[in-house]
This record gives sequence, structure tokens and C-alpha cells, in this order.
Amino acid sequence: MSLRARLALLYTSIVGGILFLFGMAVYISVSVTLTHQVDETLARAANQIISTARAGTLGVTLPELDLFADVYIQVWGRDNQLESASMNIRSFDFPLDPDNLHATRPVYRDVVVSNARLRVLTTPLIIRDSNRIVGILQTGTRLSMIDSVQRLLLWVLFIGAAVSMTIAGLAGWISTNQALIPLEAVTQTALQITRADDLSRRIPYLGNPNDEIGQLIQTFNQTLERLEKLFNTQKRFLADVGHELRTPLTVIKGNVDLMRRMNCTDDESMDSIETEVDRLTRMVGDLLLLAQAESGKLPLAQQTLELDTLVLEVMSQMRVLAKDRLTLRLGEIDQVLVCGDQDRLKQVLMNLIGNAIKYTPSGGEIVVGLGKVESRARLTVSDNGPGIPAEDLPNIFERFYRGEKSRTRSRDGKGFGLGLSIAYWIVRNHGGLIEVSNRDPHGTTFCVWLPLSAGSCPDD
Ligand code: ADP
Repeated sequence: MSLRARLALLYTSIVGGILFLFGMAVYISVSVTLTHQVDETLARAANQIISTARAGTLGVTLPELDLFADVYIQVWGRDNQLESASMNIRSFDFPLDPDNLHATRPVYRDVVVSNARLRVLTTPLIIRDSNRIVGILQTGTRLSMIDSVQRLLLWVLFIGAAVSMTIAGLAGWISTNQALIPLEAVTQTALQITRADDLSRRIPYLGNPNDEIGQLIQTFNQTLERLEKLFNTQKRFLADVGHELRTPLTVIKGNVDLMRRMNCTDDESMDSIETEVDRLTRMVGDLLLLAQAESGKLPLAQQTLELDTLVLEVMSQMRVLAKDRLTLRLGEIDQVLVCGDQDRLKQVLMNLIGNAIKYTPSGGEIVVGLGKVESRARLTVSDNGPGIPAEDLPNIFERFYRGEKSRTRSRDGKGFGLGLSIAYWIVRNHGGLIEVSNRDPHGTTFCVWLPLSAGSCPDD
């Protein structure tokens, strides 16, 4: 059964159930009230007769019995003889309620007399002062008024319930329909995305973005956005890896062919092969490292490290790369102790300073600084190179992400777009954070935050 039909049925059943309970309550209370009124009328008539009846030597003297137009009255003697009756029942000489003819206390009963439903009150006729039961008084009245009121009430309740249930069902159907229209749009768009394999599509929603449907669509669109990014990264990864592998493999093959043709191992070809194999090995190593770091399985030592010493060590190594082309200098440096893995943190520093050297044009300046802010170490690597385009900044730490310019530039055989991802994950696995911002007027600052060591580290 469709969701629409189920919800419409649910609304109808709930309204039906409520109306049934409500109808029963109304029906019972109206019936009880009307019966109570009838009982009061019968009791009033009986009391009036009993209070004015007198006992004499010859028997009981009864008052006028025709005081109540629609009340039938019979007085029966102890010997089951009809003593007297009201005019409206004179021709009827059976007891109104034969079963209670010997009642010793007042009894109400519904009886059927000559196809008419009557309410009968049987009261023992006790004459004042004598305190003896001298007979039985039966007062009765027709229940036709109560019956017709009950019948009318039943009809009104039944028709009311039918109309309300129909309206509830229709309202449920229409409102569910309205609510489901945007969901149908979601389904259609999802189908189109699947058919056309086009993750760039988004689901439009003109309603309130904060209602349930709006939030569902927003979440769905966000998921699409993430998926699109993921697929693009993968596509780019495949293209990049394909390219990165093809160049060294072509070089290796060319050199091997050359050596075979010349029938000798020439040093130049061997060097070239070695360089390319190194490059391939580095790439595979980076990929494995990243896979480990991303899955949290990267083994990390937790030793007390003098970060300032590590910075100085890396700086002296990197100066070889900067040569005279760039100035690599130390900014403010503080003595800082952290818990961590020396080799991995060195790798982070080398990646950041290496990038600064790679992307800063000749004559530029790179400044490395280290300080403490509250309970964290703050390490900065700033350059005055071209900076990173604003559209690349949010993605710069993603795997295989390379700025458009570096994409072409990396043909020089250096970057794979993995360096910053590796740095990001290593810092994350140390409980730290890595940020990037562009400098004014141009240049980039990478900032690494690491928790300061509090005493000794686990692997000390
Ligand atoms: P790779 O350097 O191998 O391309 P990275 O992950 O190290 O990969 O860097 C990702 C991208 O970030 C680079 O392609 C480059 O566009 C950009 N980038 C990184 N560091 C800098 C920097 N100091 N100045 C300008 N751009 C940078």
C-alpha cells in the first residue's frame, strides 16, 4: 500500500476511533439523563399517591389517580387483585410489571406491554401510621420519547462520523500528496543523476529550507556535493597517477632500449633509470604512508622532542635546496617540547619548507618561526611567493589536490599532490592542527599547532 493511502487510512481510523468514543459518551449520557428524568416523574407520581392514601376499616382509600396525563397507575391488593387504575389504563387488567408484584422496596424496570416499551416503578403501598404493606403501586410511562431521541442521536452521530471520516481521509490524502511532491522531485533527480551519471546536479527546493523536507533536500545536496568532490578527486588521482607513472616508465623503457641497441650499459642511462625508479618508489611510499595515516594505523613514536632543535636541523638541510635562489631564514624561535615522532614531524617540516622553496620564485624569502601559545606549540612557515588561489585554499589538504598552476609545473617531476595531505594527517595523528592562509600582498603562511608536552611522554 502506498504511503499516501496508509497515511489517509491512519487519519481516517484515528478520527473514526475518536468519534466512536465521543459518540458513545454522548449517547450514554443523554440516555442516562433522559431515563433519570422519567424515573423522577414516576417517583413523584408514586410519592404523591402514597402520601395521600388513607387506610380505613373497609380497606385503603386512594386519591384521584388521573393527575398525570402520561403516567399509567395501577394499585394491586395483597391478594393480587387490581384495586384501582388510572383512566388511561382502565381497560388493561394485567399488572404493568408482573414480576415485581410482591416487591418490598421500590423497583424500576423496562417492560414491553402490548408492543409498547414502558418504564415501570413498582412501589410497596405503605400507609402512613400503619407501617404495613397494604398493596402494590405500579406507575409506568411510555419510553417512546427516549427511544426517538436515541434514534435521532444515533443518526446524527453516524452521519457526523461518516462525514468527518471522509473529510479526514481526504485531508490526509491531499496533505500527504502536497508533502510528497518535493520528495518525488528528489526521487526524479536521483534517478536522472543515476541515469546521466551527472553528480553536478542539485535538487531545487522553493519551500522553507528549515522544514523537514528542506533539511532532507539540503542534506541530500550536501551528500551529492561530497560525492562529486570525491569522484573528481578520484578522477584527478587516476589521471595524475597515470601521468606520473607513464613519464618515468617511458624514460626507463627508452634507456633500456638504448642500452640493448648499443649493447652496453652506459652510465647516463643507468643514472636516468635510477632517478625515475627513485621517483616511483617515493610516490608509492607516499601513497602507502597516506593510506596508513588516513586509516589511523600509522605507527607513531611518542617521545619528548625539542621542536626547536628539529627546526634548526631541517633548516640546515633545506638550505641546500634553496641554494642562492631564495633566502631561508629563521624568525622568532622559542624552546618548545612536544610529544611525538621525530621522523614524522621532520617530514611535515620538510614538506612545508620544501613546498615554500618549490613555489616561491627566485629572490623570494622563506621565514620559519616557532613559539608557544597557551598550551600549544605554534610553528609557522611563511613565504612571499604567489600565494594559493582562494578557490584552492579549502581543498589544499585533500589527497592528490594540486593547484592548477602546480599541476603543469609539477611536470618538472616533483610533486604528486600528496605532501600536504601527508602533513595534515601526521599533525592530526599528533593531536594537532594545520592551517593555511595567504599573506598580504602575496605569499602563503602554513601554521602547525601541536600540544605541548606535559612532563614525560609514553615512549620516553
Ligand atoms: P605538491 O607540492 O606535490 O603538488 P602538496 O600537497 O605538497 O603537493 O601541495 C598541494 C598544492 O598546494 C600544490 O600543488 C600547490 O598548488 C599548493 N601549495 C602548497 N604549498 C604552497 C606554497 N608555499 N605556495 C604556493 N602554493 C602552495
